[in-house]
Order: sequence, then C-alpha cells, then structure tokens
Amino acid sequence: MKTIKVLLLLLLTLCFSNASHAFEDENYYPEVKQESPLIRHIIKSEEGVFLQIGDGWILTEGLQASAEGIFVIVNGEYMTVEAALENSECVRKTWVCKKCGFINYDGIAACALCGKPRYEK
Ligand SMILES: [Zn+2]
Repeated sequence: MKTIKVLLLLLLTLCFSNASHAFEDENYYPEVKQESPLIRHIIKSEEGVFLQIGDGWILTEGLQASAEGIFVIVNGEYMTVEAALENSECVRKTWVCKKCGFINYDGIAACALCGKPRYEK
C-alpha cells in the first residue's frame, strides 16, 4: 500500500514538472515565486505580463522585486499584487480548458497548460 502511495506521488510530481514547461517564463522570476506565494503562474506575452493569482488572472506591464516585496507595474506606476487585484483594468476574464480544466485568461487562443485550442471540440 505504501509503495502505491509513493508511486502515485512520483507520478503526480512528474505530471506537474511536465506541465510547468508551458510556463517557461516562471524561470525568469524565481524570486517572485518565492516572495509572493499569491502568484501561481507567470506568462510573459506581447501584451504584458500575465499573473495567475488564485483562479484569476491579472495583466500588468511588468514586475519588480524590491526589499519591500514584489510590485507590479500598472499604467507606469508600481503597486502591490493585492492592489492590482482590486484594479478592474488589470483583472481579466477567464475560460476553463475542456481537456485539462486549467483556468486560462481571456485572449489566449490555446490552453497555456496543455495547448488545446479554446474552441476545438
Ligand atoms: Zn488545457
């Protein structure tokens, strides 16, 4: 029974390590992930930097780590992640992937996690 549990855990770990390749931009911000556990995923795109916080997404112009913590840039101004969450300009609509259940932000054509196109059956 214990062996099964260990195997399951290993399988889960493998699944998640594969999945994280879709979010290669996370690697550019290791300190952000460490200092701001609120942020689950980071995707850099032409529009800006998308941050997944809980089950929602916000769009910012960039990120800055400082001694006081992590700040995001909105309209050229620095603010906390919490403040950005309350800013309706930043908060994006979301859609759920039919294949893997991942919550994506509106405007992305294919699932960021598994790559399935949004409107494909
Ligand atoms: Zn998916």
